[in-house]
Amino acid sequence: MAYAYDPQNIFARILRGEIPNRTVMETAHTLAFADIHPQAPIHVLVIPKGPYVCADHFALAATDAEIVDFTRAIGRICADLGIQPGEGGQGFRTIANAGDAAAQEVPHYHVHILSGRPLGRMLQQPD
Ligand code: AMP
Repeated sequence: MAYAYDPQNIFARILRGEIPNRTVMETAHTLAFADIHPQAPIHVLVIPKGPYVCADHFALAATDAEIVDFTRAIGRICADLGIQPGEGGQGFRTIANAGDAAAQEVPHYHVHILSGRPLGRMLQQPD
């Protein structure tokens, strides 16, 4: 695997407890916390505890236990927040940026969960 994980990235520091966070959920392999610059009334970041850079890295290198834990955590967070469209909630968007084209800022895999307002169509034109 060609990915070099930077252990000094900000989410690694959050996982080590060096930087505070507003935790939404913690499981064996996953941490979820509030985004520091929310783009919607609900903006949660979900990260694996393991050292994965982005979605494809996680999907190909993580253990089955990590992947199941992470995926179920997203479902449980959406249920806890009452935003599941199938349960009468308003719905949400998940986003996982990877690399330069997607303007990924933090090189530790994370899924954004956004909700609480109309989110518009999927993509805007780049500036
Ligand atoms: P991305 O562009 O997908 O890499 O998104 C990185 C996200 O991390 C942005 O939405 C930031 O607001 C968020 N972020 C950066 N530092 C922190 C932090 N210390 N606590 C919570 N969220 C953060």
